[in-house]
Amino acid sequence: MHTIIYFFLCISSLPLYSACSVRVLLEQGDITQTHEWLFVTPKKSFLCIFSNGMLSCNGKKVDTTALRISSTDNRCSYQDNVYAGDIALIIADGHFYVINTIPLEEYVYSVIRSEGWPGWPLEVNKVFAIMVRTYAVHKIMLSKNGKKRARYDIKSTNIHQTYKGVHDLEHLHQAVQETKGLILAYNKQPIVAMYDSCCGGVIPAQLNGFDFKMHPYLARAYPCTYCADCKLYRWKSIYSHDALVKMLHVEFPGLKHIKDIHVLHADKAGKVGQLHVKTTRSNKRISGTIFYRLCKDIKSFCYTIKKEGSNFIFEGKGFGHHVGVCQWGVRGMVKQGFMYKEILDYYYPGTKLMKLTTNSKTSASAYSALAEG
Ligand SMILES: [Zn+2]
Repeated sequence: MHTIIYFFLCISSLPLYSACSVRVLLEQGDITQTHEWLFVTPKKSFLCIFSNGMLSCNGKKVDTTALRISSTDNRCSYQDNVYAGDIALIIADGHFYVINTIPLEEYVYSVIRSEGWPGWPLEVNKVFAIMVRTYAVHKIMLSKNGKKRARYDIKSTNIHQTYKGVHDLEHLHQAVQETKGLILAYNKQPIVAMYDSCCGGVIPAQLNGFDFKMHPYLARAYPCTYCADCKLYRWKSIYSHDALVKMLHVEFPGLKHIKDIHVLHADKAGKVGQLHVKTTRSNKRISGTIFYRLCKDIKSFCYTIKKEGSNFIFEGKGFGHHVGVCQWGVRGMVKQGFMYKEILDYYYPGTKLMKLTTNSKTSASAYSALAEG
């Protein structure tokens, strides 16, 4: 198998790392009983079954617990998506892992489709391509440098970056191509390139709960003023008394009536740390993080609450966690004529662009390959 090995190239020095491809976790789960997976390439389908401690594929027992499906058409469907590259099924330690391995640039091309707005201008997508690539390279480095070799580099959900395999929006190739191999670094290390949809003007440096000493480039000390076009720059959500009781039931089983709810503690940025829920019998506390997770109409962590009749009105700023690149802000900056380098410098102060260079190397596969026929 022929793969591309990437090396970091820094202008001042040449620290070398290899980051040839990215291993994306598509699915993971416990495997206590029978389990089935269906992989479909243009030429053949593979129905893999794990049962009674044995793995079989298309009715034949397989003498391994790590399978690799590699299509000559470079396409394999799994569940609702089509993937390029290889797909591996690994069974180990009572779990199964479905992992897609693809070249980094193809991964970037895929993710800027699912994490961004493909119709936005090229310069916006160039910013997105660099931050998505940087985030992935950081994850690759973490998995390579960990004490124990990780089975995968990155998850395919928004816990890391949403990845849905191949798509046909050809114009996004230009953004990837024109930024090929570019990543952001701080002290010559790939940064944790966090991003959210709309920061709402919240100042990240004033947020509690982030390790800004470790990641000083995330401590932007000035407000983003470019995302006001987003409809969630300021938002309002109304919960009826009964709806809120229902939402909070998971945390407080038996809850029947809420007299009032208010913010007990917020940090300087306005991020809600803890809330006070007054009931007829007692006062309860709930963390802002849990409250955010339970109430889907609460769009961010910065909001105020007021009671009107039997309704609770939440008014907040932005959509997401408020740290790193503000995607709507990037759009606003591009509209005003800023270029990708200036924009990245604005959102990740103190970082530098670095270039990955390519080399070729042959790598051996650790998996048993399944043949198409
Ligand atoms: Zn913003």
